[in-house]
Amino acid sequence: MSIISTDLSKAVELLNNEELVAIPTETVYGLAGNIFSEKAVKAIFETKERPFFNPLIVHIPNIDYLETIVEAVPEKAKLLAEAFWPGPITLVLKKKSIIPDLITGGKDTVAVRIPNHPLTLDLLSKLVFPLAAPSANPFNRISPTKAEHVESYFKDKIKMVLDGGACKSGIESTIIGFENGEPIIYRLGSTSIEAIEAVVGTIEIKNKKEVAPEAPGMLERHYAPKTKTILTTNIAEAIETYKDLKIGLLTYNDILNDDAIAYKIVLSEGKNLEEAASKLYDALHQLDQQQLDIIIAEQLPDYGLGKSINDRLQRATK
Ligand code: AMP
Ligand code: MG
Repeated sequence: MSIISTDLSKAVELLNNEELVAIPTETVYGLAGNIFSEKAVKAIFETKERPFFNPLIVHIPNIDYLETIVEAVPEKAKLLAEAFWPGPITLVLKKKSIIPDLITGGKDTVAVRIPNHPLTLDLLSKLVFPLAAPSANPFNRISPTKAEHVESYFKDKIKMVLDGGACKSGIESTIIGFENGEPIIYRLGSTSIEAIEAVVGTIEIKNKKEVAPEAPGMLERHYAPKTKTILTTNIAEAIETYKDLKIGLLTYNDILNDDAIAYKIVLSEGKNLEEAASKLYDALHQLDQQQLDIIIAEQLPDYGLGKSINDRLQRATK
């Protein structure tokens, strides 16, 4: 029997019983549990096979809830929360002791956001606790953007995926920490740098493991298909190099037809970066199921969401 369901009251009941439910958000599906239940939080790490040093994002129902879980909120954090919540931006703030260490990997900060999905906002309003919800995929695998992706990963491990359709943004939230009150981007994501800078001015990016020890879990290899994947700015050349292999192609808007390509996905014929982001992970899931020898992925324009997509493709090809 399928674990996919739209039964909100069943999701509430499972979560109240310290069990896990996969939930839809605008970014990717999350594997959710009660942040105050040690049993549920441990189950999240175990189900994903995620290392305990990699902290979880806490999903809250509204801005007012912030003061329950964090100490002072820097001025620019307030501006960002007001501008983008509910939405795909995660703020890393000094935590109050109510937040268990298991959630934060022992750090004195907690990552928090309000997701923008009607079903999950409804769910959060019916619970008396926030939800810890990392992406609902095994550690290092491709993130799920459809209920079916979660089911294929976890049908034997969890009881329910709350079906909220395909995720609209399609890549993870942008994560922002604060150093001396100034915002720093720890992870590129579904909110573009340009949109963030329009609210708080020029912002520094520290999204590489070497420069961001504050953000554990920014792994070089992540979001990866099982099939060998390469990233290129020159598809024609890459096809020529690998023409003896069974090739899958992931392009932005390319119309190139080549007999050497066994399977091809175009992310956005109209060159729309939002559309490309929303389709990215489903495309990788599809390509990974075609028994290909190699996936050739085309690098996207390096601005707006293109930057975030390129970041994910780089981590998928390491
Ligand atoms: P996800 O797996 O998409 O839910 O993202 C969780 C990521 O958020 C982690 O891998 C960290 O990079 C980041 N993160 C979570 N909590 C913290 C924290 N307290 N400080 C810094 N980064 C955090
Ligand atoms: Mg993840």
